[in-house]
Amino acid sequence: YGEVTFQENVYKETQELAEALNRLLERLKVLDESRQEFVSNVSHELKTPLASMKVLADSLLTQEEVPNELYREFMQDITNEIERENVIITDLLSLVKLDRTTPDLNIMAVNVNSLLELILKRLKPIAADKNVEVVLESFRPVTAELDEVKITLAFTNLVENAIKYNHENGWVHVSLNADHKYFYVKVADSGIGIPEEDQQHVFERFYRVDKSHSREMGGTGLGLAIARNAVILHRGSIKVHSNPGEGTTFTVRIPLNYVV
Ligand code: ADP
Repeated sequence: YGEVTFQENVYKETQELAEALNRLLERLKVLDESRQEFVSNVSHELKTPLASMKVLADSLLTQEEVPNELYREFMQDITNEIERENVIITDLLSLVKLDRTTPDLNIMAVNVNSLLELILKRLKPIAADKNVEVVLESFRPVTAELDEVKITLAFTNLVENAIKYNHENGWVHVSLNADHKYFYVKVADSGIGIPEEDQQHVFERFYRVDKSHSREMGGTGLGLAIARNAVILHRGSIKVHSNPGEGTTFTVRIPLNYVV
């Protein structure tokens, strides 16, 4: 009788083990697919400016005599495409650095009020171009343990988007608050908004609601993925709320003290 129970137990355990292995394999498959998709997206994004450059260079080379003005115009277009390639590669490198399972974080006490002021100051020129008013409302002084470079990247991307996807004469409202455990940054804008069905996807790498509009704005589709990774590395959270046609609010919550 005991023998049968023993065999039954071994059988059950083997079966459980097999199921666990299967789940692991499924998980690995999903990871591998997402890695393949990433590589294919990267290749596509990098090839687009290259293709434009090739067309421009070819058309210069096949003409017998190129008028000086046309030559300069094409060269300017080529330079713009090189600049675009540069932006994509810079974003990719930022993302890869933030994607590591053990990223090298450089944590120190950071004055968040000054950090946000500096970010807004740097973005003033692009806001002025669209006559977008950017205001910062600090409800209290906040010092937090952060990797300054990485968190700057996150907030810069959020405010930059709030300006980029805004209307002429719109506004961006950045606010900073804190309780005993966390600080909260809200970036609200009067812009075009994000349709309900896209809101859950905007943090994905290369996801854009409107690809041509994003590209026109110099976007790579990586800004929010970078922001999200940077926030998560600080054990924080990021959420989006939007009413299409009215505007969007991103809310970030980060612990004041970094926990390893
Ligand atoms: P991009 O480089 O295209 O700006 P992001 O990752 O920063 O890429 O953003 C992903 C997409 O989310 C954008 O292409 C845009 O469609 C949408 N988006 C991001 N921020 C905003 C915003 N503040 N208002 C409206 N749409 C936004």
